[in-house]
Amino acid sequence: MADFIVGLTGGIGSGKTAVSDRFAKLGIAVIDADIAARVVVAPGRPALVEIAARFGDKVLLQDGSLNRARLREIVFAEPSERLWLESVTHPRIRDEIIDGLSRAESPYAILVSPLLMETDQHQLCQRVLLVDVPENVQLERASARDGVSREQIEAIMAAQTSRDARRAKADDIIVNDRDLAWLDSEVARLHQLYLSCR
Ligand code: ATP
Repeated sequence: MADFIVGLTGGIGSGKTAVSDRFAKLGIAVIDADIAARVVVAPGRPALVEIAARFGDKVLLQDGSLNRARLREIVFAEPSERLWLESVTHPRIRDEIIDGLSRAESPYAILVSPLLMETDQHQLCQRVLLVDVPENVQLERASARDGVSREQIEAIMAAQTSRDARRAKADDIIVNDRDLAWLDSEVARLHQLYLSCR
């Protein structure tokens, strides 16, 4: 297990991937909670068996993989089902993350997660790094990247934790409102800090 873990979080389109890619280039192991969340519901995994048993074959695609859009609709309409789904997936996502962290061999490791603060994942971390960005920039970048409407991005932003609440819980903040060269220099600065923190 990496003995110093930095949790990296931020809202949709804030630049988590842009930042974690830069840490990876510096040789730092990056464990991605989004990937862990996909792995635990892959065909053959117990969580997918439980989900299919509860909601039926309608939540499966022809190839037996999870129909995420369908499942999202169901749990969006029914908060108690969402809680059930989280009770099935969250402990397994956490185990998958711990597995990744235990194999990390770099001087410290990064756990990148959009739900770091909202789940118990932050408890795995010694430090929390927030990628913070003004809402207008976030809206611009996320809609350009995903090719979805500004209204859809706005709805997702409204459902996510507020900037102020995230900032209050962060140890370090990168304000990602400049160019990518700025991001390089901010990551280099924090890399030195984390090397000295261990
Ligand atoms: P999500 O949670 O939605 O997956 P994210 O937080 O991982 O998003 P990124 O995908 O890293 O965000 O960034 C969103 C978009 O903004 C990407 O297209 C990325 O290339 C771009 N971007 C990030 N930072 C900058 C920057 N400083 N300058 C210009 N473009 C940027």
